[in-house]
Amino acid sequence: MARPVTIVTGGSRGIGAASCVRLAADGHDIALGYLSNDDAAHEVAETVRETGARCITVRCDTSQEADVERLFDAAGAELGAVSGLVNNAGVTGPLGRLTEARTEDLRRVMDVNVLGYLLCCRRAARDMAALGGGAIVNISSAAATLGSPGDYVHYAASKAATDALTIGLSKELGPDGIRVNAVAPGIIDTDMHATMGDPGRPARAAAAIPLGRAGEASEIAAAVAWLLSPDSSYTTGAILRVSGGR
Ligand code: NAP
Repeated sequence: MARPVTIVTGGSRGIGAASCVRLAADGHDIALGYLSNDDAAHEVAETVRETGARCITVRCDTSQEADVERLFDAAGAELGAVSGLVNNAGVTGPLGRLTEARTEDLRRVMDVNVLGYLLCCRRAARDMAALGGGAIVNISSAAATLGSPGDYVHYAASKAATDALTIGLSKELGPDGIRVNAVAPGIIDTDMHATMGDPGRPARAAAAIPLGRAGEASEIAAAVAWLLSPDSSYTTGAILRVSGGR
């Protein structure tokens, strides 16, 4: 049987990297998109190939239409018809109240987290409809319903947009045999917290999480893998919260 070909955006680090490795172990070939960290991308690709999967890496900014088209074109040309998308590349900008936020940071978060997801979903929908089916998993966040006051309400708003996109697109694409779901992680131990200026955040947050700890990227990858597998064949429009109960 042909191996499914799945695109993972932001596959060089964190949740995206864990998803690449888990999906490869589950039998997918992987097109790994990343922004700029060549070393990290190539290291993940090597780990993926060690499982026997094929893997290409494509440096691209998902907020740019031409880059997204190039990512999908490369995946199709080098690996074959794309049947899966993990829409994962996301940014928060610096922590702080909205009153302190810079317009350029707000714009970047919307460009990557909202426009980027839309551009990737649009191309995936076109390709998968032509193929006769497929599955999309959008990485949302528990922030979409918590609102993240004082931290990044703009990021929370972008993730609420992800949830709306997931619900609407699942209804739009169901008749084409394309399932669209989201995973909404809680606080996961990745580089994202250091990038936003607070590396100690996952450890500190543990007390407020019913399961008593931050999550691991592999625990999000497991949910992603299920939503891309035939085991979830009747699941679409779902927003699966994986947050330790928060
Ligand atoms: P991360 O460790 O900071 O990794 C971000 C990844 O996205 C990297 O691979 C980075 O590439 C890539 N990336 C960033 N901007 C991009 C762009 N414009 N185009 C293409 N790739 C881009 O992040 P993470 O924690 O794994 O987060 C992944 C997703 O989960 C995001 O959507 C985030 O909002 C969501 N999430 C995370 C948490 C959490 O606690 N960590 C919680 C809820 C939701 P480079 O390596 O090249 O920089």
